[in-house]
Amino acid sequence: MQRGSWIEISASALAHNHTFLEQHLSPARIAWVVKGNAYGHGIEQIIPLAERQGADYFAVFTAREAERLLKVARAKPRVLIMGQIEDDELEWAVQNGVECYVFDTDRLQAALLAAHKVGKAAKLHLELETGMNRTGMDRKALRTALGYLEQQREQVELVGLCTHYAGAESVNNYLRVQKQYKLFRRYCVRLEEAGWPFEFRHGACSAAAMRYPKSRMDLVRVGILQYGFFPSQEVYIEYRQKHRENPNPLRRLISWKTRIMDVKQVKAGEFIGYGTSYLANDPMLVASLPVGYAQGYARGLSNVGRVLVRGQRVPVVGTVNMNMMMIDVSNVLGAQRGDEVVLIGSQGEQEISVSSFGEFSDLLNYELLTRLPEDIPRHVVD
Ligand SMILES: *Cc1c(COP(=O)(O)O)cnc(C)c1O
Repeated sequence: MQRGSWIEISASALAHNHTFLEQHLSPARIAWVVKGNAYGHGIEQIIPLAERQGADYFAVFTAREAERLLKVARAKPRVLIMGQIEDDELEWAVQNGVECYVFDTDRLQAALLAAHKVGKAAKLHLELETGMNRTGMDRKALRTALGYLEQQREQVELVGLCTHYAGAESVNNYLRVQKQYKLFRRYCVRLEEAGWPFEFRHGACSAAAMRYPKSRMDLVRVGILQYGFFPSQEVYIEYRQKHRENPNPLRRLISWKTRIMDVKQVKAGEFIGYGTSYLANDPMLVASLPVGYAQGYARGLSNVGRVLVRGQRVPVVGTVNMNMMMIDVSNVLGAQRGDEVVLIGSQGEQEISVSSFGEFSDLLNYELLTRLPEDIPRHVVD
């Protein structure tokens, strides 16, 4: 029997999403974003499944994630590190043909030095500042960078010219994103004219790719969509309106499950769990589950969360503890120890979505997913 809780990842849902996204975003290529432990789904589980669908290009945030990814990859996929990378990791990346973002001239110099030491060209993507004001080179830094590159052309393979849009998932940011897009286009044209060829010009994440087809350019960095989630409710509604024939083209991969630990009768007038947040007005049947906030079930779901037992939706009662929580099974006929409980996912006709979680606890799908602890066992199912 399974102990504690476990996560199931649907292979057929990933296959379905990859097929849809490749068609929908074509002819742009896709780098599948698997940072944050593949958005909580598990790098070790997602990479082999994605490769089975033909995925051969992945993007991560750290060198450590790139290493984990390459360990489980069956073919030799392209890997892009979009974030932080230390000097010794740069050497590792160059050695292994792993591509990296460079977002300032110091990083570029470090990459050139690493290439020199290793005796291989560094595969680089120059990140440009277009208005997000996070990382990326402004015009002056870019001029300096091109100066360095001019002197050491043989140490580099320029793979990409890239940027990141500041909030394409909300129409509130429309003007800012358009301005970024125009500036990025201008940079791309200017560099091409100056004789700097790039394999990919890329700026779009899931939201930009869905909503602004022009932003797809040569390569799209797709994270959340491949796991079956729209980046925001707004992007989802907009998609539905434009594509009435296929209103939800994506399927969720993830289910999170546990089992009832114990069941007990509670008399009317008693409080349940710590403190006095839940009072039993009537006699109740309460089940305990071996999952709490230490396992990633938000404490904010105390008294408001819902789970599924025997195909029925039942409420969380009392506060979510560190390793346990209680649910009300008074109306679930035959509920007993060992029954499977769905925390996220479906059972019978019912579904607990990650976003319904989100509405309760005010967290984004992104945050909820990536907060699922790495030590919950993950199993691939069909
Ligand atoms: C996370 C990330 C993405 C993917 O974002 P999604 O919204 O999940 O598609 C793309 N680009 C960069 C730079 C990122 O950090």
